[in-house]
Amino acid sequence: MTDAQALVKTLDFQLDTQSDNESLLYDATLEARSVYNETIRLAKQGVDWDAIPDRVADDANLVKNTTQRVVAKALGAMENYYEYDDFGKPSHTKDGAYPLRANYEEGYNLSLTDDGDVAFRISAKPYKHVTGVLKGSDANLDILQTALESDEWKIGTAEALFHNDNAELHVNVTNTEQTVRDKQDSRTVVGVDVNEDNVALTVLSEDGIEDSLVIDFPEIKFERHRYFTIRKRVQNAGKDSIHDTLEGREERFVRDRLHKVSRHIVAWSQQFEKPCIVFEDLKEMRDSIDYGTRMNRRLHHLPFRALQFYTSYKASFEGIPTAWINPEYTSQRCPMCGHTERANRNKKRFKCRDCGHQDHSDRGASVNIAVKDVKKLDWNVPALNSLPVVRKVSTERRSLS
Ligand SMILES: [Zn+2]
Repeated sequence: MTDAQALVKTLDFQLDTQSDNESLLYDATLEARSVYNETIRLAKQGVDWDAIPDRVADDANLVKNTTQRVVAKALGAMENYYEYDDFGKPSHTKDGAYPLRANYEEGYNLSLTDDGDVAFRISAKPYKHVTGVLKGSDANLDILQTALESDEWKIGTAEALFHNDNAELHVNVTNTEQTVRDKQDSRTVVGVDVNEDNVALTVLSEDGIEDSLVIDFPEIKFERHRYFTIRKRVQNAGKDSIHDTLEGREERFVRDRLHKVSRHIVAWSQQFEKPCIVFEDLKEMRDSIDYGTRMNRRLHHLPFRALQFYTSYKASFEGIPTAWINPEYTSQRCPMCGHTERANRNKKRFKCRDCGHQDHSDRGASVNIAVKDVKKLDWNVPALNSLPVVRKVSTERRSLS
């Protein structure tokens, strides 16, 4: 059985509105905000999620399937919160614009003009349209023009939103022909261990360890702690709107850095022969028994899933497959002799109680993650007699792009 996935990409464009009614689009994004808020409010109230779309749609002044897309996104945020607690409980009291999410050929439409531009038509409100042409990078316009003319590409949902007061359209496109390589066909495995202040990577082939790297991002940990402290203070003072603004800023900062780190992981992995990138499956971890305070802390305080998600979709666009392993004992197992004991690890230091092997503990965890996937792929696990020296780069010292 193959495990090929389709390639999905989001293309960002600016809207050059020519229908002289850009304020209509802005009004619609405010309406989308109230749909989002109402959905979150009802979900918090304990209303059955299946009943929410109809209740919200009756009052919304938006195209019906656009309302449904916004409701689905809000419920997705609630689900994410319950599953992973990435960025705290979704708020239903924020105001301002919220992205207007629309289905292709229902809530919005695109077409090629005689001049070679891409024209847009967004149904901002029922029977009211905003029209004009898209502006953007040559690369994005090229993909979109190709997508409009080729059966190989499918155009999906889009979001109309305002960024620094400028109207934008973010369009999802899928290449249905080109796919991600089947992971059974891999020759190297890249184990990825995500931590609060770094990500450790180790590449394993059947011959042994090819290389390993630790990418430090102390500024993410620092900023998250700083924002956490300030948010607590304003929350205690009862200033919820400031709290929400700060949360938005923290989220943007963290997301921006994590995008850089994920690009670096993919670029680094590409130098190895037919790589497969492997992560710890956190869902499996949460559903399972207690993995100790370190794991629990990581789970509750990390935008962990975000880094895994960014890395995996960027990898898929390069045709690189990703895999997931059960995280049990990855931080306690000695990569040299296999001895597994919690006391092997003391923060960033690893010292095996049995064979005496010493290592950077996150790098050791990334070796174990890679080893687990090698076993899943049914390769021979190479004997590890010595590990390469840990190399480090930092998002602070080095500009990752
Ligand atoms: Zn050992």
